[in-house]
Amino acid sequence: ALAEHYSAQAQAAPDSMKAFWMPFTANKQFKAAPRLLASASGMHYRSVDGREVLDGTAGLWCCNAGHARPRIVEAVKQQIETLDFAPNFSMSSPLPFVLAERLAELTPGDLNHVFYTNSGSESVDSALKIALAYHRARGEGQRTRLIGREKGYHGVGFGGISVGGLPNNRKWFGPLLPGVDHLRHTLDLERNAFSRGLPPSGIELAEDLERMVALHDASTIAAVIIEPISGSAGVVIPPDGYLRRIREICDKYGILLIFDEVITGFGRVGHAFGSQRFNVTPDIITAAKGITNGCVPMGAVFVSEKIHDAFTHGPDGAIDLFHGYTYSGHPLACAAALATLDTYAEENLFDRAIELGDYWEDAIHSLRGLPNVIDIRNFGLVGAIELAPRPGAPGTRAYEVFTRAFHEGNLLTRVTGDVIALSPPLIVERQHIDQIFGILSDIIRTTA
Ligand code: PLP
Repeated sequence: ALAEHYSAQAQAAPDSMKAFWMPFTANKQFKAAPRLLASASGMHYRSVDGREVLDGTAGLWCCNAGHARPRIVEAVKQQIETLDFAPNFSMSSPLPFVLAERLAELTPGDLNHVFYTNSGSESVDSALKIALAYHRARGEGQRTRLIGREKGYHGVGFGGISVGGLPNNRKWFGPLLPGVDHLRHTLDLERNAFSRGLPPSGIELAEDLERMVALHDASTIAAVIIEPISGSAGVVIPPDGYLRRIREICDKYGILLIFDEVITGFGRVGHAFGSQRFNVTPDIITAAKGITNGCVPMGAVFVSEKIHDAFTHGPDGAIDLFHGYTYSGHPLACAAALATLDTYAEENLFDRAIELGDYWEDAIHSLRGLPNVIDIRNFGLVGAIELAPRPGAPGTRAYEVFTRAFHEGNLLTRVTGDVIALSPPLIVERQHIDQIFGILSDIIRTTA
């Protein structure tokens, strides 16, 4: 009876929608015509009004193994009945250790130490703090400057919005962190529109970092943080060779390189991390989302031996790092993550973005030539269709495509500005890919 009660409550339209202040949402507009999901399985959601909706976005770039996967469901159920919570400040439980060892096997290079958080935003702010404290611990405390990039999205903490480069996420919130600068973004429709995979032009934009060194001096710069592929800015793919060049310049000046892999981690572009697909190893990786397949909040920061070691030279009994969250290494999240990693391994899901990459690329680029389509971008199982903005009403055209895709096409997509972004679960099959682009093609063709 209890199960029935809670299940019914979770699947029926709510009586009132007033109290929930929805994040990153036009609340009035949404509540006037809500889109509510009731349940999910595999590649599909079911909406509260009973429609089966194809998931073109892995939830919010997070359900990489698809929905309601048996191992994960079982592990979480089992864990909540066994140990619901355990502190991790000078106390712990087995699973955070077991999981950390498993994660360290997946990370590139010697990024073998794991700091747990509960979200991408917390991972980013933790990584920035670790970078600053690392330099201080080794006697270079004057390295306080952080370098982000225009169009970067690094979550919504004060650190993340300071290094982030999306104006709307910054302008409301005052002066932000001092001493931050931004590289130029790499989106260049003039030279690179309709590139397949990595855009050919733009490696020289990495030299912006040289310009920052010339201006600020390397001795003041702690770290550079970038997303290998920017998702929230509307999917910006790095120009061929760009990430490697950034790595070289960081090495030249002793600047730490942080890859924000909240989206590119856990198979989105093939391999466990984008770092491995691009063959460029950063000093720190931030992750979240796919680490638990989205089902329990969790994030992680992976750091190299060198960084970790810098914190281990204090006197006996000294705390390594004055930072952490009540829920760092939460047992439920660890159980979900372990079962998620088992699922990824059992089904070889980190190979999918490579196996399906060409098919995905051909399918999305078949939309070239449709009305208002001004660019198409893809890499791994990530895709973006950019539409020309309506004069005087930017964003409304893509938003209409997004809402029509959901209501008429039974397809979940993601919209940012005039970009439709796609990132299906890695269990996607060719027939689903055909369906996604068939639906989008019809809707784009009939949206003025
Ligand atoms: N960093 C990147 C690259 C992201 O794409 C996101 C979310 O989309 C975040 C950080 C923030 O993650 P969260 O929403 O879990 O705080």
